[in-house]
This record gives sequence, structure tokens and C-alpha cells, in this order.
Amino acid sequence: MASSGAVSKIKVGVLGATGAVGQRFVQMLQGHPWFEITALCASERSAGKRYADACNWNLRGDMPAHLRDVILQECEPGIDAQIVFSALPASTAGEVEAAFAAAGYGVCSNARNHRYDDDVPLLIPEVNPEHLALIDIQRRQRGWAGFIATNPNCSTTHLVSALHPLHVRFGVKKLFVVTMQAISGAGYPGVSSMDILDNVVPYIGGEEEKMEQKEPQKLLGVFDGQQVRYADFVVSAHCNRVPVRNGHLEAVSVEFEERPSEAAIVQAWQEYRPLAQQLNLPSAPQPAILYNAAQDRPQPRLDRLAGSVPGMATVVGRLRPDPLLHHKFMVLGHNTIRGAAGGSLLNAELIVAQGYLGPEAAALAQSLEVA
Ligand code: NAP
Repeated sequence: MASSGAVSKIKVGVLGATGAVGQRFVQMLQGHPWFEITALCASERSAGKRYADACNWNLRGDMPAHLRDVILQECEPGIDAQIVFSALPASTAGEVEAAFAAAGYGVCSNARNHRYDDDVPLLIPEVNPEHLALIDIQRRQRGWAGFIATNPNCSTTHLVSALHPLHVRFGVKKLFVVTMQAISGAGYPGVSSMDILDNVVPYIGGEEEKMEQKEPQKLLGVFDGQQVRYADFVVSAHCNRVPVRNGHLEAVSVEFEERPSEAAIVQAWQEYRPLAQQLNLPSAPQPAILYNAAQDRPQPRLDRLAGSVPGMATVVGRLRPDPLLHHKFMVLGHNTIRGAAGGSLLNAELIVAQGYLGPEAAALAQSLEVA
């Protein structure tokens, strides 16, 4: 594949490039300052076809012209890339990602298969960058030249992003969340229009379990040098599919170790400037959290692309007292951008910046930033 400029960039491949999340990767990687797509992969049904023929491009704007004629490859090690972004279904992601990691690739995955492995980071760069040290343990334990890093489920991503600055200051004790999740979260073509129009589906398979028992606790857990000690708080989640195209809205009630004032909560959100923002990573929104004080915001259609990097920020609002727990508020975030491909992309940027892809890649990224 031809290089897009005089300076060579870090080569990346996309696994599952024809799917909903895979297309987002392709879109977000277009013009990326550090990364250049050098391989597109999909199932054996699509392998051997032109990307333009195998992919039903359904994002705003055209498929990048220089990728239309690229021939899709099977999802097997041997492709020309250092990092692979995985947008594979869970039915196949587990084995394929492990094969790539064993063969020396850095795998940044959206799939759930490895999220809860003890030696695999489940990462939100703003929240738990120190968990990246699990990569060293993972390589040692598994004898892999490469590694796997994962990002959380789309609804957990924005919930935990909003909670992190509050957990650090006040300690989350109990959490009650009701999600209103967009249709695109089910992939393409996803939920049938006959099921979702004029309707709300009060069930998303496996989603409540992920939110209640695993992901928030691992993300907000403490890395003790050997393992992540899961945070100790209770979550009750109700997950619903609603007829919105993009953007998950979540109604959250929280009890803290110590009850903060509303002003202290707003201050915690507004003063939040974690590592990803300090490092000025290319896909890091500045700021990470947007507080909207209007009484009827955030709303998916109006706010899902808010912020300096569209779709990457978490928007919070409607903060008010909760008669059951301490406080309640709304959280909104884009599910296929920050909740999927954008989350993985920011993970990869942090991984490169922190030297986990090797010193040469870190130096290259730094030079490209300056260039
Ligand atoms: P999708 O639209 O169904 O796309 C699946 C992709 O994987 C396609 O490129 C498909 O290629 C390829 N594929 C399917 N079976 C394969 C196989 N056996 N071997 C190799 N490639 C295969 O799915 P999606 O919504 O993009 O989701 C991808 C992953 O991201 C899933 O694990 C999902 O849980 C996760 N995720 C999704 C979201 C979201 O908002 N949608 C959010 C967070 C995480 P073909 O075109 O050749 O079939």
C-alpha cells in the first residue's frame, strides 16, 4: 500500500474492517498523524475482494479513496503492520487476537474476549493508564512478543469516564444506572427496524452483567505492581435499546463514601486533566469531560459529537440531588467513536507514547508530532 507522505508512519491493520466498528477505524485513521493503514482484513467471505466491493460503507462521507482498491486479507498474522485494531465479533476475536499477539503484533481490541484476563489491560487512557504495566506481565507469562490491550464496552466507557474524577475525590460506594443505548451499538444491520421503531427493547444480552460485575470495578481498580485489585462498589444496571442512531445516554445515581456538594462534583469534572490530555495525544479530547448546565441536556442528537475531537468526549449534565442515593446526573457519549474505535485508537496512542511498542515507535510518534 502506498505511503501517504514523505515521513513513514507506524503501520497499522484493521481486523473486521468491513463492519460497523471496522469502518469507524478506517474513518478515524484517515489522516492520522502517527498511524497509516497498511492492511485491511475481514472474514474469508470477503478476503480477496476489493474493500469497496466487500464493504457496505455506511458512515457519513465517502470511503477513503486510496483504500477502495485495497484487497482484503484474512485475519491471520503475516500482514504488514505493527499494530492491529480488532473489530472482530466475540465468536472469533479470542483466538485471532491471541495469534496476532503471539506473532509480535500490538493488538488493540474492542471485543470482550480478553477484557477480564488478569494480565490484559482494560483501558481508558484518562482513567487507568498505569494498568498498561500489565503488558509486561502478559508478555512474560505468555511468552508473547506482542500483546493485547482492550477497551471497555461502549456504555461502560462513558459511565466510568464520568465517574473517575468523582471516584478519585469522593469514593464511589453504590451506583444505579439506566442506559438508553443507540441502535448502532448492535453493529450493522443490527436490530431490525420492525423491532426498534416505535419501541424500546428492555434487554441487551450480556450488557448488564458487564456493567454490574466486571468492567467498572476493573477500570477503577488499583494496580499493585502484579495485578489489578478490583474496586469495591455495587452497581445496579438496567440496559435498554432505544431508537436513536448513535450516542448512548445514561441516567446515573451515585452514593459516595463521603457526600460531596454539587459544586464539588462540578469542580471535579471541570478540573479534570488526566494523563492523556496532558500528553496531548492526537485523539484525546480537550477537555475529556464536558459539563452542560442546561436543564434539558445532554441529548444524543445535539451532543454526541461535542468537544474538540468529535465523538471522543463524555458529556455530563442534569446534576441534582437523589432521594435514594446522594446525587444523580446524565451521561452521554458516542458509542461507535469513543465507545469503540476511538477508544481503541486512543489506547494505541497511549501505548505508543508510553513506549510499549518499543522506543523506536515512541520516538517516531514524537517526531511526527513535531513535524
Ligand atoms: P459487525 O458490524 O458485525 O462487523 C464484524 C466484522 O468482523 C466484519 O468486518 C466481518 O467481516 C468480520 N468477521 C466476521 N466473522 C469473522 C470471522 N470468522 N473471521 C474474520 N472476520 C470476521 O460488528 P461490529 O458492530 O463492528 O462489532 C465488532 C466488535 O466490536 C464486536 O466484538 C463488538 O462487540 C465490539 N463493539 C461494538 C460496538 C458498537 O457500538 N457497534 C461498541 C463496542 C464494541 P465480513 O464483512 O467479511 O463478514
